[in-house]
This record gives sequence, C-alpha cells and structure tokens, in this order.
Amino acid sequence: MPATILDGKEIAARLRADIKSRVDERLDANKRPPGLAVILIGSDPASQVYVSHKRKACEAAGIYSISYDLPEDTTQHELLTIIEELNNDTKIDGILVQLPLPKHIDTQLVIEQIHPDKDVDGFHPENIGKLTLRIPALRPCTPYGVMHLLDYTGETYKGRHAVIVGASNIVGRPMTMELLLAGATVTICHRFTKNTSALVRQADIVIAAAGKPGLVKGEWVKPGATVIDVGINRLANGKLAGDVEFNAAVEKAQWITPVPGGVGPMTVAMLLQNTLTACNKHQL
Ligand code: NAD
Repeated sequence: MPATILDGKEIAARLRADIKSRVDERLDANKRPPGLAVILIGSDPASQVYVSHKRKACEAAGIYSISYDLPEDTTQHELLTIIEELNNDTKIDGILVQLPLPKHIDTQLVIEQIHPDKDVDGFHPENIGKLTLRIPALRPCTPYGVMHLLDYTGETYKGRHAVIVGASNIVGRPMTMELLLAGATVTICHRFTKNTSALVRQADIVIAAAGKPGLVKGEWVKPGATVIDVGINRLANGKLAGDVEFNAAVEKAQWITPVPGGVGPMTVAMLLQNTLTACNKHQL
C-alpha cells in the first residue's frame, strides 16, 4: 500500500489557527500583539518568496510585523545597527534576517547580534547550545516543524533509528539534536559520508536535507519507514522537487511528505510559534 501523505499545508494551517487564537487571547487580555521584524537584503527571488509567505502568515495570525527591504549594498554596520535598534524595541519579540546574506556580510556575526530572546529562527549559538543541552528555548524552525510532522504520525521515537542526510547548521545539525532529545538513535550523513545508501536502508525515519534533487532513491527506503523531505530544489523546468525520489519512495514508506506542501509550510508555522513564545516570555 502506498504511504500516507503527511500534508504539511493542512497540519500547518491548524497550528496557525491555534496560534491565532492564542494571539487573540492576549489581545482580549489587553496585551499587545506579538511583534516580528523581517529583514530582507537584496533581491534573491527565492528569498523574496519566503519572506512574503512569512509576512502574510504573520498578518493572518494577528502578529504585528514590520518589514525591512534593504538594498544589496547595505553595509554590515548598517544591518548590525538596525538589529541593535530592534533588540531594544519593546514592541518587537522576534527578529528574522532572511538568509543567505550578500557575501560582504558576515552571517555568523549577524546571527550573534540578534538577542537570543528574540532569535525566532533559533540560530543563535545560545539557542543551539540550549537545544544540545536538552534545555530548548527558541528552536530552529525547520527541525521543530519536522518534529511536529513526526508527532502527527503518532509513531514513537524511542529507540527508532533516524537517518538524516545533510548536516547544515540550520537543518541537519539541529535536527539531530531534536531527534536525540526525543529518544531516537540518530545517524547523520553529509557530503563525505561513504555509505549513505546503506545507512538510509536501515532507517525507520529518513530526513532528507541535502539540497540535491532525487538524492535519496526510493529503493533505499525501508518498507514502513517515515520519510521527511526537507529539500526544496528548483529544477530546470521551473518545477520544485525535493531530495527524495518521491514516486518510488511513496510505494515503500508508511508516511511521506510531499514537496512542495510538506515541511515548507511547517517552517513558517514554527516561526509564528517562536514569535508567540518569545512574546509570552517577555509578558509585556
Ligand atoms: P546546505 O547546502 O547548507 O547543506 C547541505 C548539507 O547536505 C551539507 O551538510 C552537505 O554536506 C550535505 N550533502 C550534500 N551533498 C550530499 C550527498 N550527496 N550526500 C549526503 N549529504 C550531502 O543546505 P541547507 O541550507 O541545509 O538546505 C538543504 C535543503 O533543504 C535545500 O534544498 C533547502 O532549500 C532546503 N530547506 C528547506 C527548508 C524548508 O522549510 N522546507 C528550510 C531550509 C532549507
């Protein structure tokens, strides 16, 4: 039997509705709405699309959002100054700087400039460190969204073997920490891993996040596995594709995410969740 599709769009819509009702409760109690600042530098088309999704989702959830659309030649100093102002702005609970940044700007410096309590992307070393130490605070949105998808399946994590393909700072590594925290046994593959296919064949849970279309072959998927495809790749024909060979994998997996409509909408929902969490923590 083909796998059940994990419909991230629908699951995220439910989460967003729940977030909206919690924002409404704040407003009913005469508290201010959560506030998110979204900073975009330059005109990368994919980044523009992501940022516009995030802004629209904020609006729909009742989150106050302010936008900075800055030119490509914005200096590092200018960006750091804006972030510092936002760190001190009491109406703003979350600061999101859309990555990637232009080459003349030091991404790590920018991430570390954001106050950890306003780091709604969860990329600050303090937040990554807390996740690693099993005291999570603001959690990286994509791995956090994947955990919600896995929760939705109702399958247990304890002792299950999760294999993550991709070891980036924003997806693969924090994904490892989330799954470890949940009690899974975790293997992480990256570009130097020699036997990725053999490892994926053993996986109860496969997380594909390498940014390589079709890298994870359907025949690698263990019957009954849960397959989460984080990859978003624009093909030459203009279509979006994941990192998993979907048509073959769907025949072997028990649960599988589509691309688009799987992990992507969950990432946006988790951004809203983190903004609300940051806001409630300040209790203003
Ligand atoms: P990245 O380029 O920073 O990292 C890719 C990782 O994959 C690296 O660790 C690399 O070692 C590994 N890798 C590359 N080739 C490999 C191979 N052949 N075998 C095993 N590992 C290999 O990418 P990223 O920023 O982590 O993004 C990964 C993908 O996820 C991209 O397609 C990106 O668009 C997508 N993404 C989606 C969301 C979402 O919300 N759905 C969020 C972030 C990233």
